[in-house]
Amino acid sequence: MSYFNKVLIANRGEIARRVIRTCRQLGIQTVAVYSEADAQAPFVSEASEAVCIGPAQAKKSYLDIEKVIQAAKQTTADAIHPGYGFLSENPLFAKRCKEENIVFIGPEADVMETMGSKVEARAHMQKAGVPVVPGSSGKIESLEEALAIADNLGYPLMLKASAGGGGIGMQLAHNQEELEKAFHSTIPKAESFFNDGTVFLEKWIADPRHIEVQIAADRHGNVVHLYERECSVQRRNQKVVEESPSPFLDASLRNQLLEAAVRGVKEIGYTNVGTMEFIFDSDRNFYFLEMNTRLQVEHPVTEEITGIDLVEWQLRIAAGQELPLQQEQINKAGHAIECRLYAEDPKTFFPSPGTVEQLKLPDKDIRLDFSIVEGSIVSPFYDPMIGKLIVHGANRVEAIEKMRQALAQVEIHGLKTNLALLASIMENEQFESGDYTTQFLEKKEILS
Ligand code: ADP
Ligand code: ADP
Ligand code: MG
Repeated sequence: MSYFNKVLIANRGEIARRVIRTCRQLGIQTVAVYSEADAQAPFVSEASEAVCIGPAQAKKSYLDIEKVIQAAKQTTADAIHPGYGFLSENPLFAKRCKEENIVFIGPEADVMETMGSKVEARAHMQKAGVPVVPGSSGKIESLEEALAIADNLGYPLMLKASAGGGGIGMQLAHNQEELEKAFHSTIPKAESFFNDGTVFLEKWIADPRHIEVQIAADRHGNVVHLYERECSVQRRNQKVVEESPSPFLDASLRNQLLEAAVRGVKEIGYTNVGTMEFIFDSDRNFYFLEMNTRLQVEHPVTEEITGIDLVEWQLRIAAGQELPLQQEQINKAGHAIECRLYAEDPKTFFPSPGTVEQLKLPDKDIRLDFSIVEGSIVSPFYDPMIGKLIVHGANRVEAIEKMRQALAQVEIHGLKTNLALLASIMENEQFESGDYTTQFLEKKEILS
């Protein structure tokens, strides 16, 4: 079976190592591109070849499309895996790859562009009969328009950047005054972060759960789901702990959700693995939030319960092959949990870069997807996530117990991390009950 001869990974850290691992197993050569700040990073030495593409600032290295393309040409890579973040959802990058006859391991640029815009994605999902969060029907042009729509929808509301991601570019407004403020602060922020100042309004869902569906779609019209992931443990609208299956869903609600996700994906002609994100209100209604047209940080929990290698599926799809399994052949077993270890102050959630002076990790019955080793420097230039611990148990109780034991064995010195927070989440009664929402970490007593 032929995939590619050489894949360049346009990313860094744990996800670069993750992609290298699968390529190696399939006998595919790999190229790492790295910034000067990452010269000593494990992913650089683990790749078959490595090319330095510039200084630490992401704009001058990992986000510089032409430098990445140049590295691919110079090393004769025939495909590029973009990981997550950086250029992974940039349609211009996908286009440039195509122009150079390099396979972009992701969807077609136009589909990516459509789904990268939350405003457009909402419109497509409505057309497919997938419920979306009640909100404005398109781009908001002026403050007057925002205020008028808000009067209609009722507060509280979320003003969101259409191009937003990583929890950045959304602002909660409880009243007219707060909406005015949000309007003036969000647009410039969206322009500077995402090069796109388009904003829209969504009704704020109180005490919601974030549950997403992993899907896969090939170029032969096959679309399948690989079940859901529960991602409601969040800080700053970004995930910290993920699990699958979701303790919130019964079989009937799960089926409705999975069916809606597949229907939405079929509507847009998507190809690649991808994630349909939904939010559930306390009455168990679900609404489409957004689609991520890439591999997700938390993809390992899906791999653990299904036994499927999602990176391998990405490579197969990009190489034009059919999905190796049909929906009826995709089964799930047991329960998986992932904890994201962040180099950050556990109280303020601010990044805390530094040198990893000592690192001890559990080695039995656990999957570790880490970017660091002992001696690594965690640079202030990039996302502060340093690793993920993933466990799989016969059931949720067993998985939680395994995670507790794993976290108890972790020793990390030289930086502040959220290790203690992760441990207290695993000990928390509400988490244990499975009955938690995205507001769970707001209760600061979890920390003490
Ligand atoms: P996931 O959606 O896979 O759970 P996160 O929200 O944690 O992932 O984001 C994964 C990485 O991608 C982080 O480094 C985050 O900062 C980055 N990221 C996500 N969306 C965007 C975006 N639209 N623009 C830039 N970076 C992004
Ligand atoms: P991003 O692109 O940054 O991932 P999302 O739209 O996926 O943005 O939202 C990220 C998180 O923000 C959600 O998981 C949820 O916790 C919160 N959120 C987003 N929209 C709403 C909403 N309308 N009501 C309540 N919470 C929301
Ligand atoms: Mg999201």
